[in-house]
Amino acid sequence: MSLKIHLIISEIDAVFYGNPNAEIDNVSIDSRSLQNNSGTLFFALIGTNNDAHQFIESLINIGVKNFVVERIPENLQGIANFFVVKNSLKALQKFASFYRKLFHFPVIGVTGSNGKTIVKEWLNFLLSPEYNIIRSPKSYNSQIGVPLSVIAINEKHNLGIFEAGISTVNEMDTLEKIIQPTIGILTTVGSAHDEGFQNTSEKIKEKLLLFKNVEALIYRKNDLVDGILDQKTKTFSWSDVDENADVFLSKKIKPKETELQVRYQQKIFSVHLPFQDEASIENAVSCLVTLLYLGYAEEVIAARVGKLYAVEMRLKVKNGINNTTLIDDSYSSDYQSLKIALDFLEQQKQHRKKTIILSDIFQSGLTTEALYDKVSNLIISNKIDRMIGVGTEISKYSDRFQNIKTYLTTQDFLADFQNLHFENETILIKGARSFQFEKLMPFLEEKTHETVLEINLNAISHNLNYFKSKLKPNTKLMVMVKAFGYGSGGFEIANLLEYHKVDYLGVAFADEGISLRSSGIKMPIMVLNPENSSFQSIIEYNLEPEIYSTKGLQSFLQIANQRKLHHYPIHIKLDTGMHRLGFQEDDLPELINILKNTPSIKVQSILSHLATSDDLEHREFAEYQIRLFEKLSSLMIKSLAISPIRHILNTSGISNFAEAQYDMVRLGIGLYGVSNDTLETKYLENVGTLKSIISQIRTIAAGESVGYGRRFVAESSTKIATIPIGYADGIPRSWGNEIGFVMIRNQKATILGSICMDMLMVNVTDIDCVEGDTVVIFGDNPTVSFIADSLNTIPYEILTGVSQRVKRIFFRE
Ligand SMILES: *Cc1c(COP(=O)(O)O)cnc(C)c1O
Repeated sequence: MSLKIHLIISEIDAVFYGNPNAEIDNVSIDSRSLQNNSGTLFFALIGTNNDAHQFIESLINIGVKNFVVERIPENLQGIANFFVVKNSLKALQKFASFYRKLFHFPVIGVTGSNGKTIVKEWLNFLLSPEYNIIRSPKSYNSQIGVPLSVIAINEKHNLGIFEAGISTVNEMDTLEKIIQPTIGILTTVGSAHDEGFQNTSEKIKEKLLLFKNVEALIYRKNDLVDGILDQKTKTFSWSDVDENADVFLSKKIKPKETELQVRYQQKIFSVHLPFQDEASIENAVSCLVTLLYLGYAEEVIAARVGKLYAVEMRLKVKNGINNTTLIDDSYSSDYQSLKIALDFLEQQKQHRKKTIILSDIFQSGLTTEALYDKVSNLIISNKIDRMIGVGTEISKYSDRFQNIKTYLTTQDFLADFQNLHFENETILIKGARSFQFEKLMPFLEEKTHETVLEINLNAISHNLNYFKSKLKPNTKLMVMVKAFGYGSGGFEIANLLEYHKVDYLGVAFADEGISLRSSGIKMPIMVLNPENSSFQSIIEYNLEPEIYSTKGLQSFLQIANQRKLHHYPIHIKLDTGMHRLGFQEDDLPELINILKNTPSIKVQSILSHLATSDDLEHREFAEYQIRLFEKLSSLMIKSLAISPIRHILNTSGISNFAEAQYDMVRLGIGLYGVSNDTLETKYLENVGTLKSIISQIRTIAAGESVGYGRRFVAESSTKIATIPIGYADGIPRSWGNEIGFVMIRNQKATILGSICMDMLMVNVTDIDCVEGDTVVIFGDNPTVSFIADSLNTIPYEILTGVSQRVKRIFFRE
């Protein structure tokens, strides 16, 4: 990209201050990934809780010169180029749409409820022998992701594939103007993300807006879409029931594959797909029909479609050998996704040392020389300590990199594996498919048993943003990560929250805070239950104690004075009715008296906790607590002439008592996707999925029993599967004896007999399953809340009960 500034001003409706003859050569919205790039145009976006305007000054200091802003920060006028606009996100979108018009090759726009990313990845695989393709990285399909994807187009590309995702009305029009697709693909329209729409037909209508100017819309012919589709839209349809479709298919499911008979024009040919599930077949057909539309010959189509593979779209974080952390991105390698993976690597701070194992990169649209120069810059600016390159190309350009070892093939690399001494480091594994980097994983991964708690980091970000959107602009956010992040993982969650610039973390005990500090967490941390014996280490690790009694205050003051501290932050807890910890109304005169002459500490915040925020039957009691909090905290503020942060709301408080946000709220269980409000639950995403596998399957005859105490006796021949997870892993024993169930191949399998310490047995008589199959204990179904309700307990107990011997695996989409 190389654009004169004066060309951009009117395109994004800006008022410009600065030098209009300067040029920009790239665009960014992420202040963290910028170095000293004088050609960058930085769009200062304002999110629900983050305002990028605050980073402008430091960006100017490292050499960034061009900014799109909603207001010029004080004192910065004149020292950089500023485009002042009404809304910087809208400006980014307008810029992308202007930039897109500079290119005139075919662009495929994909939308639908499911399958967008898979169709995009598969088309890329199928078409890449003929085209230099630019496509959205991962699932960058949002109001921000789409413009960024389009802005990555360069002169060498000759085909684009972009996906568009919407969550409510009026979004697609904007995306259409940016993508400007010439060919459209509508994938499955299901019920995902229905909340933003009145009904399915409103949702389809909105999605179809992407296709208003296409030369052809590729879709599965059906009455619902046909009824809504604009008569003028040109289509290229397929069907397995309606013979009027342009392409007609019939399918036969075989033991390991699916055979499709394809009828197009006068010809009939068959293809073999290497899978059998409905969703994969439908996505593969969308791709196949696109190839027919583009004029590919049947033999080529059959050969390529037969090689489609399961797309793994998640960046997985796993524990590796010798205390390493692995980021497994071993299925794709292109410049865009390398950038994303490096960003992700940057966020992982367990280890100081960072290594990348990288294969040749394909389809950048650049000459190999220019490509490896760019990759080298990226690796240097991300401060990667060592690099292992695999492939002939990357070997050729090894002089571009420091501390690199190269191998021509994956086999060569594995042969030398023992000499590479991987330990105490984070390793990003990133390779093009043909290098089969999945073969490296067994060597690098720590051996674990089969039961895992998978934590979806994207869902955490989603839930965080959901609650942020409920806060007033100035309300700060503390997130509770006590009890090992409600069982979901302490460090990893804290790290993500630090990345999202949450204001505070809350832990229960000093040890939890110390462990977070030791892994590199720098943000403020409040300790709810500091024991007097832990005050010394609290100070050493820069943690902030909650003080709830005069005795505690005095012993903290004694240490603070000894250490000659100045204004050390402490948090005063008031008891307004919970009667657990805190100063009561009677204690205040004494408390105020002590605090009057104490320069060694500072009342950073005053807090209290609601006893009934989740139960509106007790609304009056919560309101009484809030009134008392107002009274007591105001008294302290007045008597001490201080201005502390005040906070009283937990998750259900945020939902039910929005007017009492004060200066901060304390989000807990909601972050982990649980709410006791069914309406709110619909807006949250499930975070944790507890999974295991089937160890053994047997069939028992009528009259035979299962497990301790013979508590299940079969009435007829019964197929039993044994799962290696028991009450010592945190499955409540009361969930056994045919009360609870697990999910196997999306079907319920009832738990038979008593749950053992390390195992449980389930009924799989009607389930077509084999040993080694995945078993879901909780997740999307059954949810933790469902189990808790059935057992008369609360989700908190189930979540935090998952034993530490269960491995946590973190992933993001
Ligand atoms: C745990 C806790 C929270 C968070 O509660 P949730 O119901 O999980 O949102 C807030 N404040 C205090 C003092 C807590 O102990």
